[in-house]
Amino acid sequence: MLTKKLPFILFVVSIFLFQGYNSVSASTSYKKLSEVEILKGVVKQGDTASSLLNKYLPLKTIYEINRLSSDIFSLTHIRKGQPYRIILKGEDLVGFVYEIDNEEKLVVQKENGIFSINQEPIKYDVDLEVVSATITSSLFEAVRKSGESSKLAQKLSDIFAWDIDFIRDIQPGDQFQILVEKRYRDAKFSGYGDIQAAFFTSNGTPYKAFLHKKSNGTSGYYDENGKSLQKAFLKAPMAFSRISSGFSPKRMHPILNEYRSHKGVDYAAPKGTPIKTVGDGVITEIGYNKSMGNYINIHHYNGYITSYYHMNKFVKGMKKKKKVRQGEMIGYVGMTGYATGNHLCFRMNKNGKMVDPLKYKSPPSNPIKPGEMDLFLAKIQKSSEIILSVHKLAATDKKEI
Ligand SMILES: [Zn+2]
Repeated sequence: MLTKKLPFILFVVSIFLFQGYNSVSASTSYKKLSEVEILKGVVKQGDTASSLLNKYLPLKTIYEINRLSSDIFSLTHIRKGQPYRIILKGEDLVGFVYEIDNEEKLVVQKENGIFSINQEPIKYDVDLEVVSATITSSLFEAVRKSGESSKLAQKLSDIFAWDIDFIRDIQPGDQFQILVEKRYRDAKFSGYGDIQAAFFTSNGTPYKAFLHKKSNGTSGYYDENGKSLQKAFLKAPMAFSRISSGFSPKRMHPILNEYRSHKGVDYAAPKGTPIKTVGDGVITEIGYNKSMGNYINIHHYNGYITSYYHMNKFVKGMKKKKKVRQGEMIGYVGMTGYATGNHLCFRMNKNGKMVDPLKYKSPPSNPIKPGEMDLFLAKIQKSSEIILSVHKLAATDKKEI
């Protein structure tokens, strides 16, 4: 009964909050408050700010609002599918709120005949929740089975991308526990915030990651000893695919039909799968070659060069001398050049010598500063307790069944 009533109560509360938010003064009587009407809508194909507002405002005023708001957001850029609200007091428009994206909204308010325009963050109710599962086939499947979206699997794999190769290392029985922020608006789920902590057990080896915001404002993930999980190279240039051929001094070449060495790793993946650079660096070569197809070479600051062959196409804007960031998308899987199927041939060169990318071990970088360690340790203890308490609960549940 109570649960059925809840959405209604929430709705009433939210209207009052909204009115308070729109600067209706505290002394305004209840009767006046009730005169405020909120029209909710979603921008449709062909809608413009003028078509949405000219029922309530003369065109001249709409242009003036647009002129004032163009520093923050131009009303000519309103997009199909974005929610908006028109707030009326009697016949008079006193507010217009347009959601620019998932994070920010444009707020136009009229008070004493004067319009003010602001950009404000969209407020969410944030719940900290524990998501845990045991993998039977893939990480994606396990995350989906626990009732979450594949976006969470992506977030999780990004955190451990330096330590766990989600292509080779994942096995049935691997487990994870995630302490994640889930965002809600009007009691409806509307996406994930930060993963605060994540435990992953891969083939019996436990990995732990804790989010830490440094005093300089940047944030990253660290293990329980305060060592950064971020390393010079990602474990693989793609999040999810299958290794079809490893690094070997000799193998039968599928097209040339003769023994040749294969000094790279082939990742089979569907055409168009995004390819990421494994580390920060500069593009030193980009082009087409009869055997390599569309390829890119990236020179990294630690003396390594990584190469990516057989791409279907490059990401727009990739060119020689362009600086790229670790994890940046550079191209898409294809089968250009000598290739029998869609795959990426990934190669690594150290000081002029080809090396096996699967054997490369990144040295760790940038630990938490000693001065921030106490705060970090207190936080990870709290996160661990939450995760473990839910874990114990789940274990008890199982016993009782
Ligand atoms: Zn290859």
